[in-house]
Amino acid sequence: MSSSGDLISPQTTHVALFPSAGMGHLIPFLRFGALLLRRSNCRVTLITINPTVSLAESQHTSQFLSAYPQVTHLQLNLIPVDPATVNSDDPFWLQFEAVRRSAHLLGPLLSSASPPLSALVYDVSLISPVIPIAESLSLPSYVLFPASARMLSFVSYFPTFAAAGFGSTNSDPLLRIPGISPIPRSSIPPPLLDPNSLFSRILMEDSPNLSRLNGILINSFEGLETEALEAINGGKVTKGSPPLFAVGPFPPFEFEKAEWSTPLNWLDQQPEGSVVYVSFGSRTALSRDQITEVGEGLVKSGCRFFWVVKDKKVDKEEDEGLNDVVGVELMEKIRGRGLVVKQWVDQSEVLSHRAVGGFVSHCGWNSVGEAALYGVRVLAWPQNGDQKINAEVVRASGLGIWVESWGWRSGGGGDDRTVVVKGDEIGERVRELMGGESLRLQAAKIGDVARKASEVGGTRENTLERFIGELLETK
Ligand code: UDP
Ligand code: UDP
Repeated sequence: MSSSGDLISPQTTHVALFPSAGMGHLIPFLRFGALLLRRSNCRVTLITINPTVSLAESQHTSQFLSAYPQVTHLQLNLIPVDPATVNSDDPFWLQFEAVRRSAHLLGPLLSSASPPLSALVYDVSLISPVIPIAESLSLPSYVLFPASARMLSFVSYFPTFAAAGFGSTNSDPLLRIPGISPIPRSSIPPPLLDPNSLFSRILMEDSPNLSRLNGILINSFEGLETEALEAINGGKVTKGSPPLFAVGPFPPFEFEKAEWSTPLNWLDQQPEGSVVYVSFGSRTALSRDQITEVGEGLVKSGCRFFWVVKDKKVDKEEDEGLNDVVGVELMEKIRGRGLVVKQWVDQSEVLSHRAVGGFVSHCGWNSVGEAALYGVRVLAWPQNGDQKINAEVVRASGLGIWVESWGWRSGGGGDDRTVVVKGDEIGERVRELMGGESLRLQAAKIGDVARKASEVGGTRENTLERFIGELLETK
């Protein structure tokens, strides 16, 4: 019997989850939590940061907690950071740093957990500050990596890359990581080519500590990322890597259904597989010029489309209507050809809708996973961060196509910055995406593999079982 009087059998695990900033990090933690909660022998504590940057984060957390009242919720109140001390003006990056600097507050929260914890699963951006806390409490320590296994190989290899001068003294345009097909230098997230960026500093400190983890959990699966999963688990990438648990593909859960509804009536009226869904995730705003070209391109493609417009990086700051952002003239052209909205939509609901056949995506890793799960082919249009590395996965797996010459988002900081991709070209590529029969079949095949991985006895459940077995052994 625990100190609180709760009965807990020796066959029960209690996992604390600690995500960092942004929906791209929060969603995989909530889905992983929901996967654990489907099992009778798992308890979950969710540690959230307060305040959050976006409204979507606080809303999703509330929805999760209402759906699972058995979850213990702990809040870590952030110590504000002076932006002048962080080499970035991105609100999500500032938040990452604030969480790192507040991580010492975690100790008292964890030590009072009842029943006692079996493991702490936390964000990849928190390794160095959190590891000593977990070690001092003799708590097994796992990271839930929110990106691709290919990106994880780069993160693991980062100290070697940094020691070799960030590739700057090397004329080879390809980064050669053992066991991984070469990564073009142009695909590396631009901040990680700059030794002084916040993320380079975080990785220089954190990557050498990966070997102190008990394991890494990742939302990926064989069939989407066979090469990288095998290379990492085979110890080819770096010596001393902890075990990698491929617990993907993460499915969406009922708690994610928004209070406001996604306009599905329009989709219901469209023929099967005829609609291309266009969205750049939760935190990427296109420039007004680029928004116009996307709209013109979609109209020119002649395809039916469902387009989610985002004008501001942080949802709380969205203050203009569709007519202001897209323009009345373009809205008129769109009428009858497609649907455009400017709101949070339930993306899984859209991608799983029978009318949706293609996805123009920035390739945030959650979006790639969702496209794979539903076998929807992707036109990759990476905008920043790890998204080109994910686009390589999309292309190599056959899930979709990628027009490399489109480069990074304007202001995205890449070598090939500030191109506004023209509507004609967008229209042509959208037609290619929607017209390609072999592409459709290949994406559908990945969807089949993803579904098999998710079934009882599939790789996701088996891997989850192995993870829980490990926690029970170390109790
Ligand atoms: N998402 C959604 N509705 C939206 C925008 C985003 O449901 O209107 C979800 C999307 O399905 C994914 C997550 O938010 O699960 C975004 O994560 P991703 O890694 O794709 O990209 P990020 O937003 O982090 O750039
Ligand atoms: N439309 C849109 N976004 C909006 C409003 C309208 O894309 O926010 C487009 C869409 O193609 C829709 C068409 O305009 O099918 C007609 O919409 P409207 O509201 O004028 O008429 P409804 O069909 O809803 O009666």
